[in-house]
Amino acid sequence: MNQSLITIAYIAASALFILSLGGLSQQSTARRGNLYGILGMLIALVATVFAMKDGNYAVLAAALIPGLVIGAILAARVQMTSMPELVAMLHSFVGLAAVLVGFATYLGPHKAMSSGEHTLHLVEIFLGVAIGSVTFTGSVIAFLKLRGTIGGKPFMLPGRHLINLIMLIATVALGAAFLMSPDTAAGQWPLIIATVLTGILGVHFIMAIGGADMPVVVSMLNSYSGWAAAAAGFMLGNDLLIITGALVGASGAILSYIMCQGMNRSFVSVMLGGFGTEGGTPSTATGEPQGEVHSVEAAGAAELLLDAKKIIIVPGYGLAVAQAQHSLAEVCKILKEKGVEIKFAIHPVAGRLPGHMNVLLAEANIPYDIVFEMDEVNDDFPTTDVAWVIGANDIVNPSAMDDPGSPIAGMPVLHVWESRTCIVMKRGMASGYAGVDNPLFYKDNTLMLFGDAKKVVDEILTAMRG
Ligand code: NDP
Repeated sequence: MNQSLITIAYIAASALFILSLGGLSQQSTARRGNLYGILGMLIALVATVFAMKDGNYAVLAAALIPGLVIGAILAARVQMTSMPELVAMLHSFVGLAAVLVGFATYLGPHKAMSSGEHTLHLVEIFLGVAIGSVTFTGSVIAFLKLRGTIGGKPFMLPGRHLINLIMLIATVALGAAFLMSPDTAAGQWPLIIATVLTGILGVHFIMAIGGADMPVVVSMLNSYSGWAAAAAGFMLGNDLLIITGALVGASGAILSYIMCQGMNRSFVSVMLGGFGTEGGTPSTATGEPQGEVHSVEAAGAAELLLDAKKIIIVPGYGLAVAQAQHSLAEVCKILKEKGVEIKFAIHPVAGRLPGHMNVLLAEANIPYDIVFEMDEVNDDFPTTDVAWVIGANDIVNPSAMDDPGSPIAGMPVLHVWESRTCIVMKRGMASGYAGVDNPLFYKDNTLMLFGDAKKVVDEILTAMRG
C-alpha cells in the first residue's frame, strides 16, 4: 500500500482511539466509544498488514489467526466477574511483547545509524525491555491474586524498600553497561540480566500490594502496559503504536489517580504497599458473627421496600457474582410504578473492575439518570427510608471512618447506616475482598437478608407480585 495511504489510515485510527476514550468516559456514550475503538483497531490492523514490505504473510497469518480466534473465544466466554483477571493477563502479554520486540530489535539486523541515533535506539530498547519485564511479571502476579490462586494479602519482606532501591540502582548500572557495550555479543548480557532483575522487581512490587489497594494496581499495570507498547512503537519506528501506547499509558495513569482519590490514598503510599496488614479487626476465618445480628426474610424485605418512599440501592461484587441485575431491574420497575423514589449509589471501587457496577446496571437497562457516584449521593442517606445493600461489603464498612486502626481506615465509604433501615443481602457473614469484619452487620437498624443475591431478589420479586 502507498505510504501516504498508510499514514492517513494511522491518523484516522489514532483519531478514532481518542474519540473512543472520550466516549468511554460517560455511560450514555460508552457504546459509541466502544464502536470507535473497534473501528480504529480494525483500520490499524489492516493498514499494518498492508504496510509490511517484503513481509512473510504466512508467518503473519500463523501468528494473527490463532490470536484472533483465542481472543474471540476468551472474550465471548469470560464472566464479568473474571474480567479483572483477563485484563491483568492481557497487560502481561503487552509487557512480554515489549520484551520480545526489544530483544529482536537488538539482536536482529538494523539499518545504518549515526552514533547519536544508535545511542538513542539502545536507550529505547533498554527502557522498552525493562518496562515490559516489570509489566509482564507484575501483571502475572496481579492475575494470580485476583484469581485467588495466591492470597490477596500483601507479602512483605523485611527491608523491602531497600531491596527495591538496590534492584533499581542495579538496573540503571546494567543500562550503562549495555550502552557502553562494543557489540551485541557483549551487550546481550546486561540486557538479559536487566530483564531478569526487572522481572523480579515486578513480582516483588505487586506481591507487597494487596487487599483494598488492588484496583489501583490493576489501573497502574494498565498504564505500564501502555508505556511498554509506546516503547515497542519507538523500537519498531511505528507511530501508531507510539500514539496508542501513550493514550493507554496516560489514561491508565489518570484512572490510577482517580482510584487513589476514591480510596483516599496517595499514589506513593499505594506503591510502597502493605495496606491492610496491620491493626483493625480481621474477619474471623469461619465467618462467624462477632455480635448480635438481626435478620429478615425475603417477604419481610419486600414489604419494607414497598412501604418506603425513598430507597438507595448499593450494588457490590456479590451482585455481579450472582448475576442478579436483571431481576433487580424488574423489582425496580414495580417499585417505580408504586411511586417509590429509587437511586443507585456507586462506589468507585465497587466490584472488581473500575466501572464494574455501571456495566452491570447498563446490561439490565437501568436508566442512567438514577445511577449516582458516591459523592453525589452520600448526603442523601439520612433522608432515606431503606438503604438496600446487595452483595457489597468493604464499600459500606463504617470501620473505615470510625476505627483509625482498621486496615481500611480512611477509605471513603457509602454511609448506608445513616438511613432509617439498612437491608444487607449476602450469603453469610464472610468478609469482603479486604478481609475485614464489618460492624454494619451488627447495627440496630441493619437487617441481614441471607442467600444468593439472584435467588433472594427473585423471591422478593415473587413476594411483590403476589
Ligand atoms: P466485597 O468484596 O467487599 O464484598 C462482596 C460481598 O459479596 C462478600 O462479602 C460476599 O459475602 C458477597 N457475595 C459474594 N457472592 C455473593 C452472592 N452470590 N450473592 C450474594 N452475596 C454475595 O465487594 P465490594 O463491591 O463491597 O467492594 C469491592 C472490593 O474489591 C474492595 O475491597 C475493592 O478494593 C476490591 N477490588 C476492587 C477492584 C475494582 O477495580 N473495583 C479491583 C480489585 C479489588 P458472602 O460470601 O457472605 O456472600
